[in-house]
Amino acid sequence: MPLELVTIPALSDNYTFLLHDSDSGDTACIDVPEAAPILSELSSRGWSLTDIWLTHHHHDHIGGVDDLLHKHDAKVTGARADRHRLPSLNREVGDGDAFEFGGERVEVLDVSGHTVGHIAFVVPDSGYAFTADSLMALGCGRLFEGSAEQMWESLQKLAALDPETLICSGHEYTQANAKFAITVDPDNDALKARIKRINSARDSNEPTVPSKLSEEVATNPFLRATDPAIQAHLDMIGAQPVDVFAEIRARKDRF
Ligand code: ZN
Ligand code: FE
Repeated sequence: MPLELVTIPALSDNYTFLLHDSDSGDTACIDVPEAAPILSELSSRGWSLTDIWLTHHHHDHIGGVDDLLHKHDAKVTGARADRHRLPSLNREVGDGDAFEFGGERVEVLDVSGHTVGHIAFVVPDSGYAFTADSLMALGCGRLFEGSAEQMWESLQKLAALDPETLICSGHEYTQANAKFAITVDPDNDALKARIKRINSARDSNEPTVPSKLSEEVATNPFLRATDPAIQAHLDMIGAQPVDVFAEIRARKDRF
């Protein structure tokens, strides 16, 4: 039985996630945009929080930690590299580290690019990856601190995970990402079909997150810098993938 995953909308367009092991009762929250929706989900399920995992220091991912800790005695895990700008950490982790949660192994990947020090938490047995503002549904985070090289390398690590992995990313940006994606990959039938599904989900106010990695590989232009059709469309046939990625990211910034 995989760990139970609950997706919770927070603030205007963020997502936070609960991960729950029914045997031990252990419950982790991944990123804390604000406490209120998390507290009400916990109380309606009768769960108490044992763990908080933080992906990066932006306020919309850590702003509710103190309020959550007032109500729950949870252990906070975050990047050693970002300890100076994260809430006080009980466990500091870095690229390649692993720890145990609910009887499963949790692997930490450095996925710098959006920020330097951004990490992802991967739970291979249950098939979840908490990617926040690195790999997102049909997108990737804006490069505030890192270089295109760093983000491309980060995305390659995530793309190498099991294709069935659910990508639990940090924002409901998918519809806007779709409008851009089709401009660089206009002949991709899988993308066109996905956009239809995204639009109907959003019409009924359903989340488009999490998304399956195999679907991102097939449709997310930021993972597709080696794709001949995209390279041709950008007039970059045979260019280095990282340069194609940088061009796609630059176009998205101007879009
Ligand atoms: Zn961010
Ligand atoms: Fe964010």
